[in-house]
Amino acid sequence: MINLKDYEQFIGKETLIELEIIAKQLKNIRVLHVNSTNKGGGVAEILSRLIPLMNSLGIKTDWKIFKGSYNFFKFTKKLHNLLHLPSDEDIESEEINLYLRTTYENLNEINTEDYDIVFIHDPQPLALIVKKQENQKWIWRCHIDTSTPSPKAWNLIELFINSYDAAIFHMPEFIYKGIKIPTYIIPPSIDPLHPKNISLEEDFIFQTLNKFSVDPEKPILLQVSRFDRLKDPIGVYNAYKLIRKKYDCQLILVGSFAADDPEGEEVYKEVLNQTAEDKNVFILNLPPDSHLEINAFQRAATVVFQKSIREGFGLVVSEAMFKLKPVIGGNTGGIKRQIIDGINGYLVNTYQGAAFRARQLLADKELRLKMGQNAYNIVKHRFLITRHLKDYLTLIYEIIKNKN
Ligand code: UDP
Repeated sequence: MINLKDYEQFIGKETLIELEIIAKQLKNIRVLHVNSTNKGGGVAEILSRLIPLMNSLGIKTDWKIFKGSYNFFKFTKKLHNLLHLPSDEDIESEEINLYLRTTYENLNEINTEDYDIVFIHDPQPLALIVKKQENQKWIWRCHIDTSTPSPKAWNLIELFINSYDAAIFHMPEFIYKGIKIPTYIIPPSIDPLHPKNISLEEDFIFQTLNKFSVDPEKPILLQVSRFDRLKDPIGVYNAYKLIRKKYDCQLILVGSFAADDPEGEEVYKEVLNQTAEDKNVFILNLPPDSHLEINAFQRAATVVFQKSIREGFGLVVSEAMFKLKPVIGGNTGGIKRQIIDGINGYLVNTYQGAAFRARQLLADKELRLKMGQNAYNIVKHRFLITRHLKDYLTLIYEIIKNKN
C-alpha cells in the first residue's frame, strides 16, 4: 500500500501538509486517467504510482487502458514518430479508419461518464474526446515533443485536441506554436519508493550481476531503454567500441517490449545481431516488471548512457541520477532538463562525443562522485513524484475552480 507519509523522509513535513491541504479541496472530485499500456515505458511507470498516491489522499482516481490491435499500435507508433520528427511520410486513409474504428471499439469499453476530470495520455486514446460531456473537463497529457510535428500528423490529432479543455506538456519547448487550447507545463518524475529506486543490499546487486554473467570487477556502461531506434542503442554500442580501445569494460543494454510499441522486437534483433560477437556486451530483454534487476544494474553501473536522438523526458535519466550516477545523455528533449552539462553529467550529440565523455568519467573517480552527488540533488529537488503530484493537484484545483 502506498502511503504519502512514507515520503516525508524525502520532502519534509511541510510539503506533506501542503499536499494534504490541496487534496482536501478535491475530496469529491472523480478523476480518470486513460493510456494505452499498463506495463512498459515511462507513462505506465508514472501512472502505476501516481494513481495510488492520489487515492491515498482521498481523491477517487481510476486508470483505464485503451486497447488496440497490432496494426493499430503500428500506426500510432508511426504517428508518434511523425509528431516527434518532421517527415513527408503520408498517413493513409486506411490508417485513419483503423484509428477511428479502434476508438469506437474502446468507447464501448471505457466508461468515462462517471468522472469530473479525464486525463488522456498521448495520441493513442486521443479521439475518445468525442464522448466528453458538458459538465466534464478533459485534459490531453502529451508525453512527447510536438514542437515540430509532421503537418499531416498534427492535422489529424488537431481534429481532436481542439475539443480538449487544456493540454499538459513536459517542457514549454515541446508545445507546437499553433495549438489553440490552454497549455500547462508539468515535468515527469520518479518515485523514490518504487522497487526500481529503493536502496538495495550490495549482495542483491552482486547476485544480479552474477545471474546475467556480468563481471562485477570490470567497469559497467549501461543503457536502460525500450528497444527503440530513437533511443539509439547502436550509437551506444559504437561509443562502447571506442571506449574499449582504452578500457577493458562491459556494456549492458537492458530493454523490454511495451505493448504499444510493435517496433521493439525488430530493433532488439538488430541490436543482438550487431553485438553478437562481443562477450563483453550484454543485451538483456527483461520482462517489464524487472524493477529490482534494473535498479541493481543502475546501481552497479560506472557510467550510464541515455543517448536518445529524440526524447520525451527519459525517466531512466532521473532514475540513474537518483542513484548518484553521472549520466551521458543525448542533447535532446527532456534529457536537457535533467542533465546540466558538465555539472551532473554530460550532454552529447554524437557517439564519438559519448565515448569521449565516458572515457573522462572512467578515468576520474572523484569526478564521477562529484557529478553523481549533483545528479542526486537535482532529482531530489525537481523530479520526485511528490512534486509531480502537487502539480497535478494544483492543476485539477484550478480547472475545477474555473468550472464553477
Ligand atoms: N524500463 C523498464 N524496463 C526496461 C526498459 C525500461 O522497466 O527494460 C523502464 C525504465 O526504468 C523507465 C521507463 O521504463 O522507468 C522508461 O521511461 P522513459 O521515460 O525513460 O522512456 P519511454 O519508454 O517512456 O520512452
